[in-house]
Amino acid sequence: MSATQAAPFHMVDLILKKRDGGSLTAREIGFIVKGAANESIPVEQLAAWLMASWLNGLSIEETRALAVAMRDSGEKFDPSRLGKVAVDKHSTGGVGDKTSFLVAPLAAACGLAVPMISGRALGHTGGTLDKLESIPGFRTALTLQEFEAVLQRCGAAIISQTSSVVPADRVLYALRDCTGTVEKPGLIAASILSKKLAAGLDALVLDVKTGSGSFLRKRADAEYLGALMVATAEAAGTKTVALLTDMGQPLGRTAGNWIEIAECVALMRGQAAEASSDLRELSLHLAGWMIHLGGKEETAEKGYKAAANALEDGSTLKVFSEMIAAQGGDISVLDDQKGFHKPGAGEPVDPHAGIEFHAKRGARVEKGQPFATLYATSTARLEEPIARIKKAIAFSEEPSADEIPLVSHIFTRENAEAFLRDTVR
Ligand code: URA
Repeated sequence: MSATQAAPFHMVDLILKKRDGGSLTAREIGFIVKGAANESIPVEQLAAWLMASWLNGLSIEETRALAVAMRDSGEKFDPSRLGKVAVDKHSTGGVGDKTSFLVAPLAAACGLAVPMISGRALGHTGGTLDKLESIPGFRTALTLQEFEAVLQRCGAAIISQTSSVVPADRVLYALRDCTGTVEKPGLIAASILSKKLAAGLDALVLDVKTGSGSFLRKRADAEYLGALMVATAEAAGTKTVALLTDMGQPLGRTAGNWIEIAECVALMRGQAAEASSDLRELSLHLAGWMIHLGGKEETAEKGYKAAANALEDGSTLKVFSEMIAAQGGDISVLDDQKGFHKPGAGEPVDPHAGIEFHAKRGARVEKGQPFATLYATSTARLEEPIARIKKAIAFSEEPSADEIPLVSHIFTRENAEAFLRDTVR
């Protein structure tokens, strides 16, 4: 806006409209987002609007307008020069959730481009970038030009959000964090999707976790967020599905930074233990949907089979190793785990820390059988996690009653819209 041009709205009017239960138009939301990104709207007014939005909720139209305005608030990646369909996956996060390291090379091995802009640890859930940075030399802070070069070479690249991508979300997310306005489906959906849509995706697969280890513990909340994200992303022009998946126990057999990469490499080599079978299964389901939505197979089931072949014939490991090398990582650690990054003095997160589980929920165990192996740089750091793990496990003489399905529901555009019409929030 030039200095002589009057602002089209007064922020205080928009706050009052939202406070009193109204819905803002796409133009009004665009004005707020632009003001957040260029810092022309004072933070106290943004915070008041966020609280009014948290208390009254955002309509589906407002959620879409917010996601699109935030997507457009900065630089965007244009995957059209790659000459491939661009697909990605996003997970709401959980314990031992490491499917990104498998689905990105799986989809790339099946002929798609996977421009993945990822996040760091949130609460108790680990971050994709933190895990990758346990590989010495691995760079996540690439420019969009470097991102494109890695994608041209390998078909997949995983980077962090740059300062110029979705700047409005950076401002609003920081404000939400310190004003008690994080946990609201419309605000969460717009925030997550703005970053995914800025990568110019043709298709997106969402892994919405539910259960005790997830961000959204109540199933009803996970269902609503899944349906809302599908409807919002579809309305913004990206083919999207959401899988509701179990996070009632760690995914696979490890939780930590380097140890999760090591588990994925073992799977790509065909050397995975039985306890990794849920990780394998979920990764193939997610990749199957990416391959189907990306137009490479007619159905998600055929996509699953194509992904399983790419895992078995070694092409997934090849893409993964090439991607690690292209982003500056030392691929020798994939053969010799001793080379993973060790922490420096005083580093708050110990990348060497990790847990390996030897039994999954419902497994039969005998007295004296090791249940888990814990890794740390000093034994003093093990006391607290050992006590917590002991508290978290219950043993029973009887087999556990219910089998909890790994994928319990799938939202597509059609059933997501119907679900949102029928659900009062
Ligand atoms: N992750 C995000 O990127 N945004 C949210 O609001 C919540 C989780």
